[in-house]
Amino acid sequence: MRTELIMATNNAHKLEEVRQILGRAFTVKGLNDIGCTEDIPETADTLEGNALHKARYIHEHYGMDCFADDTGLEVDALGSAPGVYTARFGALNGYGESHDSNANIQCLLDKLKEAKTRTARFRTVIALVQGDKEILFEGIVEGKILPQPIGEGGFGYDPIFAPIEANGLAFAQMSAEAKNAISHRGRATKKLAEYLCQHNKY
Ligand code: IMP
Repeated sequence: MRTELIMATNNAHKLEEVRQILGRAFTVKGLNDIGCTEDIPETADTLEGNALHKARYIHEHYGMDCFADDTGLEVDALGSAPGVYTARFGALNGYGESHDSNANIQCLLDKLKEAKTRTARFRTVIALVQGDKEILFEGIVEGKILPQPIGEGGFGYDPIFAPIEANGLAFAQMSAEAKNAISHRGRATKKLAEYLCQHNKY
């Protein structure tokens, strides 16, 4: 029997990625599929806090088992910033609107102009709220920030993030499959899938 789970997102790209990793044993529905049109605010100051908040919200209001994710880019030369503020980094620093990838990228490149190190990582936290249980899963990909954008694929900071496993290629130069195999979100989602398969409530 296929088991139904809610992912607290309306991002079609994320839903597709997660469906591919979780496989055919699970039906993953997004917020649109359950008639939730609210924009659940991300008000916590940690990735864990935001992911838990979103998953708890759906569990409480819709009575369904649910998982939610939150991702941050942690740049060593900036003391692990922008972290939980990754989506709003440009806007918080006077570079355009929140979620504007070009503004975010330009802001980060400017801040790193004098930096001696460009090491960074993407970190994703997934929170699963299942009955009375709350479980967190983490996925990390280490890499570095390139001096200028390159590549056409992906989204967000992909044109300036080069994972160490990819021999100098940016995420934006990789196929979706190659990126998913090593990405922060891919790794966190695989841990979620392992957990769900082992705990055979599903
Ligand atoms: P979210 O928590 O998944 O919405 O991610 C927060 C922000 O991190 C996004 O708005 C993007 O700017 C950035 N981000 C998350 N995942 C990726 C990725 O796989 N590649 C590039 N940027 C990402």
